[in-house]
Amino acid sequence: MKSNKHKSSHSTEREFGGAFGATCIPVFLPLTVLYLLSVCRSPAASVLQWPPPLPPTAQLWDPVAAVLIAGWFALQSFLYLLPVGKVSEGLVLKDGSRLKYPINGFHALWITAVLLSVCLWLGMPLGYLFELMLPLAICAISVSYLLSLYLYIRSFWAPKHALSLGGNTGNPLYDFFMGRELNPRIGNFDLKYFCELRPGLIGWMVINLGMLMKEVELGGSPSLAMLLVNFFQLLYVTDALWNEEAVLTTMDIVHDGFGFMLAFGDLAWVPFTYGLQAMFLVVHPQSLSTLGAVGIILLNGIGFYIFRRSNSQKNQFRRDPTHKSVAHLETIATATGKRLLVSGWWGFVRHPNYLGDLLMALAWSLPCGTSHILPYFYVIYFTILLIHREARDENHCRAKYGLAWDTYCKRVPYRIIPYIY
Ligand code: NDP
Repeated sequence: MKSNKHKSSHSTEREFGGAFGATCIPVFLPLTVLYLLSVCRSPAASVLQWPPPLPPTAQLWDPVAAVLIAGWFALQSFLYLLPVGKVSEGLVLKDGSRLKYPINGFHALWITAVLLSVCLWLGMPLGYLFELMLPLAICAISVSYLLSLYLYIRSFWAPKHALSLGGNTGNPLYDFFMGRELNPRIGNFDLKYFCELRPGLIGWMVINLGMLMKEVELGGSPSLAMLLVNFFQLLYVTDALWNEEAVLTTMDIVHDGFGFMLAFGDLAWVPFTYGLQAMFLVVHPQSLSTLGAVGIILLNGIGFYIFRRSNSQKNQFRRDPTHKSVAHLETIATATGKRLLVSGWWGFVRHPNYLGDLLMALAWSLPCGTSHILPYFYVIYFTILLIHREARDENHCRAKYGLAWDTYCKRVPYRIIPYIY
């Protein structure tokens, strides 16, 4: 979390390893995506195999992938512009204004689902996405590079008040990575908000469906493991888009500039690494017992329940603390005038929403069995991400709430997992 203490227009605080991290990450992470995809489709699927299973260069490029990615962005942009759903206002900006955002991501998801059903009905080979995974990832990575370059260049024409706090150090590589402009727009089209939940998240669902169809091509019907992975992840994405308005108060929209970090994360990292389980199952089929499946469904259900209830409780409390669903909860006052919940979900641990998210992440990997570490990539990466994010948030809250935050920490001593962490 960035500090607000900057007196000049240049920010001084550096995150993600500063200029060194910002130079290495844009090289290292795209290579990681390609490496994980290559390992995932190899018979051994071992991250330890040496030399790594590099695909022939001919398999890295396919013009069909470029056409699909271009068509995908055109379709999602068109759906974004459709005048359906409500329009919501973001938080107040530095100049006192508030931007308007269309809340129609859920419509975009279901219109896409209808279009996909038509494609399947017409007999289009959706399973071919399996063969195209590497070229598709290369195109998505290229789009995120080109978009970040465009964002970096155009930011020099943006007014000072429209710049983010973190991405304006004057170091071109660091600023390219963190993003200089806070809310870059072309007319009313908000580029960061559009990328945050639509092309990547909905694209991830299309890829999952493609893997399921590939399994059907190979074996005649989808496996229980594949159905579970598809269903769990669809539930997660549907929930995110159903609650799209909540994204307007997140760190990504409110604090972070739009640069390579978010563009690459939204457009390449999420769709091509979060769904590795489905791709793994195509090449490494797993048989799942009914009892095992019931246990995994329960785990996902519990995770989803904790995740949704705790996020909704805090959102409701922040929107209207007198609402009957939260008015009875115990709170402590802070010097800022805002109160902190110390009972209910937020009295259980300090980040119950992260706990729920992690339980779900585990449930997405378990259908892939325990013979390989690769399908557990998401849960391992996500644990590291959330521990780091929790620490950033904790620093931010301590700076904001001071003594009241320390009192909260004494009352609720565990961060994410009760009695463990
Ligand atoms: P959170 O929803 O956890 O919000 C943290 C903020 O909540 C704090 O800064 C503080 O803000 C407020 N808060 C903290 N404690 C209390 C309390 N006791 N009472 C009242 N308010 C409190 O932020 P995130 O954006 O990190 O997470 C949102 C969701 O997104 C989570 O479920 C997370 O798991 C998920 N997520 C998923 C990712 C993915 O890749 N799948 C990546 C990142 C997040 P304030 O006081 O200013 O209101």
